[in-house]
Amino acid sequence: MLDFRLSPAQEALRRKAREFALHEILPAAWEADRTGRTPVALLRKAREAGLMNADIPRAYGGEGLGLLDNVIITEELAAACAGLATSIFDNSLGMEPLRLCGNEPLKRRVFAELLADFKLIAFATSEPTMGSDVAGIRCLARRDGGDWVLEGTKFWVTNGGIADYFSIFATVDPKSRHEGICAFLVERSQPGVRVGRPIPKLGQRGSNTAGVRLEAVRVPAANVLAPPGEGFALAMRTFARTRPAIGAFAVGAARSAMEFAADYARRRQAFGTPIARFQAIQHKLADMFQKVETARLLVWKAAWEADQGGDPTIAASIAKLYASEAAFQVADEALQIFGGYGYTPLFPVEKILRDCRLFRIYEGTSEVQRHILAGHVLEAYRPVMPALEELALHRGGEASGTGATPRAWRCRICGHVHLGEQPPAECPVCFFPASAFREVHDP
Ligand SMILES: Cc1cc2nc3c(=O)[nH]c(=O)nc-3n(C[C@H](O)[C@H](O)[C@H](O)COP(=O)(O)OP(=O)(O)OC[C@H]3O[C@@H](n4cnc5c(N)ncnc54)[C@H](O)[C@@H]3O)c2cc1C
Repeated sequence: MLDFRLSPAQEALRRKAREFALHEILPAAWEADRTGRTPVALLRKAREAGLMNADIPRAYGGEGLGLLDNVIITEELAAACAGLATSIFDNSLGMEPLRLCGNEPLKRRVFAELLADFKLIAFATSEPTMGSDVAGIRCLARRDGGDWVLEGTKFWVTNGGIADYFSIFATVDPKSRHEGICAFLVERSQPGVRVGRPIPKLGQRGSNTAGVRLEAVRVPAANVLAPPGEGFALAMRTFARTRPAIGAFAVGAARSAMEFAADYARRRQAFGTPIARFQAIQHKLADMFQKVETARLLVWKAAWEADQGGDPTIAASIAKLYASEAAFQVADEALQIFGGYGYTPLFPVEKILRDCRLFRIYEGTSEVQRHILAGHVLEAYRPVMPALEELALHRGGEASGTGATPRAWRCRICGHVHLGEQPPAECPVCFFPASAFREVHDP
């Protein structure tokens, strides 16, 4: 049975997130964008409002919100500012490897610390020389007695400059690729951890992004999230659960772009009439609305799949890919509706467009999502239709046998179907010999 209604608890969660977005995030968004500084006090408020860390599992004292709950929150926050929403959501990303790992004592300790205090936890697979190719990590993890020693640089770390903990992905041997990847929980206070200055960005400027340098950082074995050989799978399982949230950022940002554009279209006059009267503008709004609604359905489906305990990898890739590309198209058309004003920071769409551009890049670029989906279609997807070679589309060939139901032979090259006891010596259409024919049966 399908039911698209939210539960009363989810409706309440959405109202709470919407209130917070309108009264706390929206007033701070353009200033954060202008200064490039992340308002940490706002992140603290989000935590106090129950909009951050609410997905810490019940078993560890948290509220145990599901992924669907999280994407409902995320859409609302991103509707006010995708950058600030990214920084608020980042704890969910940073703690996902911990949530998924089997290190119970570490889970108990760190989840308790996150619940007790305002702490930020960041996620780091990327490095200055790699992002998409997670198996290409170079940050080295070396065993030293009972500890691990980390040496390398992580890059593009959201909240990297302000985080207390990092989920660091490293390798015991860069040449061993997937087999060498491991992961550790690293604390900012540990000797040898240095964070870089914020990386300047096109959009989402209110979200801190920084490099993290690890110089002979000694990590106790108790902080292992994944031993060598298990880190790559842990990173992929993390993305499968966090990509729907990127889709939700995109839905929220696109929704706002559409709303601002509709408002402007009703007010702006051209040729003596509101531009909303022009069919060209109406069609843009229709397409924007269709994209926002479609993207939300995909995001909810992916989140729902994860909440059912299934592997949401494919649904998450579809949602992330569709929603992030749709959001940029929506923001671009919204900007077009604003005409020249759209191209200025005096109206909100310029920032939304810059913010939206990131969705196609982080947590797996659009190209990477297509790579995942193409791999699925070609290798794992189970087709309903019979194989082409078994499909006798045109049974127009002349029967040469005597049986009541002649056998059918299909030319594998041109598709011609020959009816008879034997294949023809030569295909009458493409001239290939009898060996090109294969007997077909009705499915
Ligand atoms: C603002 C921001 C925040 C981020 N936050 C985080 C974070 O918190 N933690 C973290 O670990 N990372 C983070 N990232 C990094 C982000 O995930 C990477 O930038 C992204 O995965 C792409 O990696 P890359 O930049 O190294 O590009 P590359 O991997 O070098 O790719 C360059 C281009 O080549 C394409 N490409 C690469 N491989 C293929 C392929 N096989 N087939 C087709 N095309 C391909 C890519 O799609 C892209 O267009 C963040 C990035 C940004 C910009």
